[in-house]
Amino acid sequence: MKSLGLYLHIPFCIKKCEYCDFYSVPNTSESLKDAYINALIAHMKEYGPQAREYVVNSVYFGGGTPSLLTEKQLKLIMKNVKSCFNLSPLCEISMEVNPGTVDAEKLTSFRRCGINRLSIGVQSFNDEDLQTAGRIHTSGDAYKAISDARKAKFNNVSIDLIYGLPNQTLQNVVDNINIACGLEVDHLSLYGLKIEEGTPFWFNRYKLSFPDEETERSMYFTSVGLLEGAGFKQYEISNFAKKNKACRHNLKYWHAFEYIGLGPGAHSYFAGKRFSFKKSLSLYLDSFDPAKTTVEQLIDEYIDIPYSSRIAEYVMLNFRLNSGIDCQAFKKQFGQDFNKIYYERILPYLKSGHIVRTKNGYAFSPDGMYVSNYILSRVIDFDLIIPGTN
Ligand code: SF4
Repeated sequence: MKSLGLYLHIPFCIKKCEYCDFYSVPNTSESLKDAYINALIAHMKEYGPQAREYVVNSVYFGGGTPSLLTEKQLKLIMKNVKSCFNLSPLCEISMEVNPGTVDAEKLTSFRRCGINRLSIGVQSFNDEDLQTAGRIHTSGDAYKAISDARKAKFNNVSIDLIYGLPNQTLQNVVDNINIACGLEVDHLSLYGLKIEEGTPFWFNRYKLSFPDEETERSMYFTSVGLLEGAGFKQYEISNFAKKNKACRHNLKYWHAFEYIGLGPGAHSYFAGKRFSFKKSLSLYLDSFDPAKTTVEQLIDEYIDIPYSSRIAEYVMLNFRLNSGIDCQAFKKQFGQDFNKIYYERILPYLKSGHIVRTKNGYAFSPDGMYVSNYILSRVIDFDLIIPGTN
């Protein structure tokens, strides 16, 4: 059986953070959450039969703030995940957790429902950073959430940190990383702040003082060095893990494996198609009421990916990983010679040292990884005509 990832979007937050453009509404009403869960379950029932040939070996509760779910609500969702899909007994089941929403008891209840991996949105251990970013929690809440996760017997705990926040210094970032390395965490995601259009940071971008490009670069490379020194292996541009703790679900995105995402704004890659659902909670709720609208109206994008674009996508995603491109795996997947298609295109970056040869292919060097988006935009051409494909 083929493996599948399942992403479940929980689009509720206590309040919006200053930098966030993920789809969520600042509303935590229990009746609204209950109505949403009913719609989500109806959606699972619709997709379950299409995924009969698959075994789900990763489930990811993302948001929004999934940790706002009660035990009763989570139990109901998990019961339906199990009845709608073939769930592997060794399934990785992750949940994003906001430190301002949990305690040991609540985390224990999540564990009872089947969650076995937590991704805690710490963002910074500095209270000024947290205030600037509009987070609802303090650094104290973050320390407590991590220790509560251990009390609740989670043995796979990840934290998220951001660098590049307004007024943040290199020393602030170094402090954050050193603190993280001293805590019992298994995985760390380190994201450079992106100022997304429409967010409060974007509206105030000329008033706020962001670190300059050179400082951001130092923040990234210093952090990578500190994390590697503390036993975290970098496996993707922004992701670092202790042994065997890389996130199976997120690896699916980068390996171009299949996943179904349910909920407003969720994306899927399933049966050769990419599709997403509109970012509208009201439309989502109505879409499972035939009197109001239809599920078709819920679809935002629906792309039947041509074979040659699938190749381009595979290259783009695999290059995000430290392991890079394995030419034999490429040949096995597409029946094509990677060098024939891409060697000329990557040659300038091989010469500059941004791309290096590995045992089985090519990968970005650390310098290349940092500017990978730029390089990939030059290397990848989704309209490239590849002989033998259509
Ligand atoms: S808690 Fe997470 S999803 Fe909600 S607004 Fe903040 S960053 Fe966005």
